[in-house]
Amino acid sequence: EYVERTYERIEKIEKKIKAFITIRDKEEVKREVREKLKNPKGKLSGILIAIKDNISTKGIRTTCASRMLEDYVPPYDATVIEKLKQEGAVILGKTNMDEFAMGSTTETSYFGPTRNPWDLERTPGGSSGGSGAALAAGIVDIALGSDTGGSIRAPAAYNAVFGLKPSYGTVSRFGLVAYANSLEQIGPMAKNAEDLALLYSIISGDDPKDATTIHFEPQVPEKVDLKDVKIAVLKDIVEASDKPVVSIFNSTLDKLSSEGAIIKEVNLGYAEYALPAYYIIAMSEASSNLARFDGVRYGYSKYYEGNWRETFAKNRGEGFGIEVKRRILLGSFILSAGYYEEFYIKALKIRRLIKDNVDNILKEFDLIASPTMPILPPKIGEVVEDPIKMYAMDLNTVIANLAGVPALSQPAGFYNNLPIGLQLMGRYLSDYYIMAISAKIE
Ligand code: GLN
Repeated sequence: EYVERTYERIEKIEKKIKAFITIRDKEEVKREVREKLKNPKGKLSGILIAIKDNISTKGIRTTCASRMLEDYVPPYDATVIEKLKQEGAVILGKTNMDEFAMGSTTETSYFGPTRNPWDLERTPGGSSGGSGAALAAGIVDIALGSDTGGSIRAPAAYNAVFGLKPSYGTVSRFGLVAYANSLEQIGPMAKNAEDLALLYSIISGDDPKDATTIHFEPQVPEKVDLKDVKIAVLKDIVEASDKPVVSIFNSTLDKLSSEGAIIKEVNLGYAEYALPAYYIIAMSEASSNLARFDGVRYGYSKYYEGNWRETFAKNRGEGFGIEVKRRILLGSFILSAGYYEEFYIKALKIRRLIKDNVDNILKEFDLIASPTMPILPPKIGEVVEDPIKMYAMDLNTVIANLAGVPALSQPAGFYNNLPIGLQLMGRYLSDYYIMAISAKIE
């Protein structure tokens, strides 16, 4: 019945929003759910989950929303998928995203944009927009996304759901198709903070297959109270956000302070350098990561002619979309002799300064709050043609990726029926703490 209901929901709404790139066969899913229910020991026995399409799923096409990988069926599961399966979860399908997770609106997908269930004219945010929309549309209750510079939190904010960008190194990236390794994490998306924490407890943990994971003791707080929680509000970030967003954010702050939270404005510092530093690092890492898609070993390989250069160029030229190509070119330029010091090394220094500032603020405060996104969900087509406009959407979110700290987005309210998100950042490894606070704010 549960599976039937889910597919009825898909039938009704998926044509309008296009949250999925691949939906699995109903009978197959039913069989699997039945199977998992026979052994109901897992924390997610028989529960359907939507997975962003840059996470490797054995036997299920994993496209990264790119023509390059249109027909790629991985022979192995990502570590997070293995863990979910062990707990009885069943994959419903793979969700739409910006191509190789490069974008903030799910519009750079080779398969076309996903639409926001709250307003079909608007984007659901990105790059994990399909996962966000599938939750908001009531197709699934839990989903996975990935977040390099805000890709979980943007769609969480724009779909009025919850999303966590975990502390760097606490969730294995094995099986995540890499965009920018030093910044990104796979993370949970759900409709409440409790489910978020449950999912995180399943997917997190060190993994011998990902050397950047760390061994850590989960710090699960017994009880949290909003009273006396010290919250820093990033003044320079809030000032750069649009009025409707700020007004909803301020009413959230009022609510928090009426419950006893201590709120103080601080400046992040270097805020104007956060985006340039982020994009220089992200594009550099991307240009290197995407070199593996040479049209021979993986994916799109229509051409096999001329010398290797011609073969690579033709396949890559057709296999990648415009945004991906832009980033490969810029990233290669940044890393080339002479420019490396001028751009890349400088960006690393800015990253360090921002990280130090974040850590210092979090010595005095328990949390850092800001709006998740500086603007309301844009209309389809509004920002994607203008990369600078699109990159500017990430100002509030990239900070946590540069600093490696956990950050979540949760619904803060609505402006003209459009969802607005509250972002909470916390100390490194305080993921459970911020989710517990988030549950209190709900
Ligand atoms: N919008 C940002 C980018 O394009 C973040 C994307 C992400 O987190 N994957 O890089």
